Amino acid sequence: MSNDEKKFTTNDAGIPVSSDEFSLTVGPDGPILLQDHYLMEQMANFNREMIPDRQPHAKGSGAFGNFEVTQDVSAYTKAALFQPGATTDMLARFSTVAGESGSPDSWRDVRGFALKFYTTQGNYDMVGNNTPVFFVRDPMKFQDFIHSQKRLAANGLRCNDMQWDFWSLSPETAHQVTYLMGDRGIPKTYRNMNGYSSHTYMWVNAQGERFWVKYHFKTDQGIEFYTQEEGDEMAGMDADCHRRDLFDAIQREEYPSWTMKVQIMPFAEAETYRFNPFDLTKIWPHSDYPLHEVGRFTLNQNPTDFQAQIEQAAFEPNSMPPGIGPSPDKMLLARLISYSDAHRARLGVNYKQIPVNRPKSPVHSYSKGGAMRMDNVTDPVYAPNSKGGPVADPEKYPEDAVWSANGDFMRSAYTKRADDDDFVQPRALINEVMDDAARDRLVSNVVGHLMGGVKDPVLSRAFEYWKNIDGAVGERIEKGVKDKK
Ligand code: NDP
Repeated sequence: MSNDEKKFTTNDAGIPVSSDEFSLTVGPDGPILLQDHYLMEQMANFNREMIPDRQPHAKGSGAFGNFEVTQDVSAYTKAALFQPGATTDMLARFSTVAGESGSPDSWRDVRGFALKFYTTQGNYDMVGNNTPVFFVRDPMKFQDFIHSQKRLAANGLRCNDMQWDFWSLSPETAHQVTYLMGDRGIPKTYRNMNGYSSHTYMWVNAQGERFWVKYHFKTDQGIEFYTQEEGDEMAGMDADCHRRDLFDAIQREEYPSWTMKVQIMPFAEAETYRFNPFDLTKIWPHSDYPLHEVGRFTLNQNPTDFQAQIEQAAFEPNSMPPGIGPSPDKMLLARLISYSDAHRARLGVNYKQIPVNRPKSPVHSYSKGGAMRMDNVTDPVYAPNSKGGPVADPEKYPEDAVWSANGDFMRSAYTKRADDDDFVQPRALINEVMDDAARDRLVSNVVGHLMGGVKDPVLSRAFEYWKNIDGAVGERIEKGVKDKK
C-alpha cells in the first residue's frame, strides 16, 4: 500500500490528527492544553457511548437475512411480503427478557424473537417470543410483572420470592411459568429455538375477507435445550454463549433458518370458539387449527456494528403493512403504543431514520423536525395541500383490518367462556406433551427455583399454584422442597 492509499486518523470532522498516542502538553512533562480538541472529542464521545438498555429485553443478539415465500397464502392475505415468489430482506433479534445487557445468555428466561421485514410496502415488525403464550393477558399488569422479574428496590438484587409472589397471585401466569420451568426455559442456542407471534393478528385478502392468524417459526436446526446444571455452568463459562454461537455460525456460513407457519381461524369463529382466542395466555390447539406453511427465513449476514445495527434496532408491532392488522388481544393493543414510545424515549423521535430501522420502500410522510433528523423535509409540510404533496389513497389502501365493538366503558377481564380456564393448557403441557424425563426436570427446576429464597406465605401459595396445575406434580414439588430444607 502506498503512503497515499493508507488510511490516516482524523477527528469526527474529518480533519487529520497528528497523534494517536499523545495529548497536547506544555513540554513533555507539562499540563495538558485545553485547546486539544481531539482529546476532548475522544473523551466526550467515550462518555456518551452507552445508550439506555431496553427495558426489558436488554441482552440480545441479531443478524440480517431474507424471507422467502414457499406456499401460496394469497387466499388469506394480500400483504406483499407473503405473495407467491416474494423474497424480503429482514433482520432478527433474539434476547433474554429480565437480565441487563451483560447478563448471561443461559439464565432461565423467556427469549424474545423480534423480526423486521423490509417489505415493498413499509416495514413489517413482529415482536414474538420463543413461547406461544405470555404471563399476563392485560397490559395493566405488564409493568408489575417485569418489575417482579427484575431487581428489588433496596438492594438491587433479583429475588425469587418476588417472582413467585407475583406468579402465585396471578393464576393466568400458570401456562407460561410451566413453559419457562420446562426444557424450553433455557434453549441451547438461539438457533435451536422456535419463535411464535404469540399474539393473534388479522390477515385481510385482496377481496377484503378477514382471518385471524397466529405465527409459528419452527427452527430448522431442531429444538435443543440446556438442563439447569448445563445452563448454570455456561453462565459462568461463557455469559455470551448464545451471541457467540449465532455470530460464529453465520461466519462459518452455516446459516440458520426457520420455517414460518400460521394457524388460521375464520373471522366469525372467534365469536363462538370455546375460549377467548385472543387471550395471550392460551394457545390454539393444533387439532382445531393446523399449521399452514408460508415460507422460510434464513439469517446469512452478521452485523458489522453491533451498537448501530442491533442495539439501535427498533421493532414495533404497530408497524403492519396492508393485508395485516391487529386483533382484540389487549396485550397486543397496548404494545402497539408502548413499543414506539419506548423507542422515542431511548433513541429519539427520529429513530426510524437510523439506517437499520429505515424502510427500504419510499417514505412520503408529513413528519418533520425533531432531534437528530437525517432527511431534509420538503414543502408542502401539511395536508391537505394544493402543492403536489402526497395524498392518501383510501381506494387502494382501505382501512380494512378492522372489527366492530360496543359496550360501556369498564375495567374488566375478558367475558368468560365455557373453556376459559388458567390451568387446562399447562396441565396438558405437563401430561400430554412432556414425557417422564421432561416432567422430572420440570419438578427439579421448580424445586431448585423455590429453594432460592422463596419463603412463606409465598412458598405455600406456590405449592397450591402447582397443585392447581397438576395435583401429582404439585405434591412432588412440595415434597422436593420440604425434603431439602
Ligand atoms: P399438540 O400435541 O398438537 O402440540 C404440542 C406442541 O407442544 C408440540 O407441537 C410442540 O410445539 C410443543 N412442545 C413439545 N415439547 C414441548 C416442551 N417440552 N415444552 C413446550 N412445548 C413443547 O397439542 P396442542 O396443540 O393441543 O397443545 C397442547 C399443549 O402443547 C398446549 O397446552 C401448549 O402448552 C403446548 N404447545 C402448543 C402449541 C400450539 O400452538 N398448539 C405450541 C407449543 C406448545 P412446537 O412444534 O411448536 O415446538
